[in-house]
Amino acid sequence: MATIYDMLVIGGGPGGYTAALYAARAGLRVLVIEKLSAGGQMATTEQVENYPGFDEGVDGFELGERMQRAAERFGAQSLLATVSRLELSGEIKRAHTDEGVVEGRTVVIATGASPRPLGLPEEQGLIGRGVAYCAACDGMFYKGKTVAVIGGGNTAVADALLLAKLCEKVYLVHRRDTLRATKVYEKALAAAENLEIVWDSRPAALLHAERVNGIRLENVKTGAQREIAVDGVFTAIGRVPDTGLLEGQVELDAQGYIAADETTRTSLPGVFAVGDVRTKAVRQIVTAAADGAVAAHFAEDYLNGI
Ligand code: NAP
Repeated sequence: MATIYDMLVIGGGPGGYTAALYAARAGLRVLVIEKLSAGGQMATTEQVENYPGFDEGVDGFELGERMQRAAERFGAQSLLATVSRLELSGEIKRAHTDEGVVEGRTVVIATGASPRPLGLPEEQGLIGRGVAYCAACDGMFYKGKTVAVIGGGNTAVADALLLAKLCEKVYLVHRRDTLRATKVYEKALAAAENLEIVWDSRPAALLHAERVNGIRLENVKTGAQREIAVDGVFTAIGRVPDTGLLEGQVELDAQGYIAADETTRTSLPGVFAVGDVRTKAVRQIVTAAADGAVAAHFAEDYLNGI
C-alpha cells in the first residue's frame, strides 16, 4: 500500500524545510516535493548575511542543503519532482507529479515566488541571451562585460554590487530618485567605481541582434529616451507568488498571494501556506522559516482534531 503522509510540503525553501523539520521531529511522516534544489530562491543568493547564527554570512545554496539535511535527520523524505496538479479539498490530499501521485493528510504550500518580468516585447525569447533574473546564477557569464540591473530594492542593489565585482561596468536603473534598498548598501555603492546609478528611468526596449546588445531607457520625468550599449540586462523588480497550482482552490488576496494569517492556515482545512507565497509584511528567510515552525504546529493540531 502506498504511504499516506501526514504532511506533504510543496517547495523546499526555508519555509518548506522548516515545516518538515518541525513536523518530522514531532514524529509525523513528511514528504517534501522540490523541483530543483533545496533552498528555493535563497539558493540563488551568494551571501546570506541576515540569517541568525552565521556570524560571517553563509552561501544561500549551502544553507538550503543544510536545512534539507536537518529535516531529513528526523526522517523527513524529499522527492525531486515537478508538481503538475494538486487536489486539496478532500480529507486525503493528492499531489500529481512527474514521479507519480503522492497522498497526504495535510499540505504545506511553500512554493515561494518567481522574478517579475519587465513585460517588454521579446523579453521571454531573450532569456539566456542577455536577459537574466539572477546575478548569483548567471553573473559569471558577464565577466568583464557591461550590464544593466533594473530595480531599486535590496535585490537590485545586492545584484548590482555582486556584478560590479565581475563586470567592467554596471548601470543600476531605477524608476525613482531614491532607492528602496536599505541604507546598509550605501557605503558599498559609493565605493563601487564601475557602478553608475541611472535615476528616474525605466527600460523602454531591449536592443538585440542574436543577443542583447543594448537597452533603451526612458526618463520618467522628462520622457527623454537614450540608448546604452550593454551585454546583459538583469531584472530585479520584485517577485510574483507561485500560486498557479492553487487556482480556484484556496483564497488569494488582492495581490495574488495566498490569504493566510500568522497561523499559516488557508481557506481550506488542512492546507497551510508559508513563506513568500502567503500574505505577509516582511518576506525574509527568517520569516519564511518562522512560518514553517508555525505551520507544523497547526498541522499537528489539525491531525489531532483540535
Ligand atoms: P522589492 O523590495 O519589491 O523592490 C522592487 C524594486 O523594483 C523597487 O525599487 C521598485 O521600484 C522596482 N520596480 C517594481 N516594479 C517595477 C517596474 N515594473 N519597472 C521598474 N521598476 C520596478 O523587491 P526585491 O528587491 O526583490 O525584494 C523583495 C523582498 O526581499 C524585500 O522584502 C526585500 O527586503 C527582501 N530582500 C532582502 C535582502 C536583504 O535583506 N539583504 C536581499 C534581497 C531581498 P519602487 O522602489 O519605485 O517601488
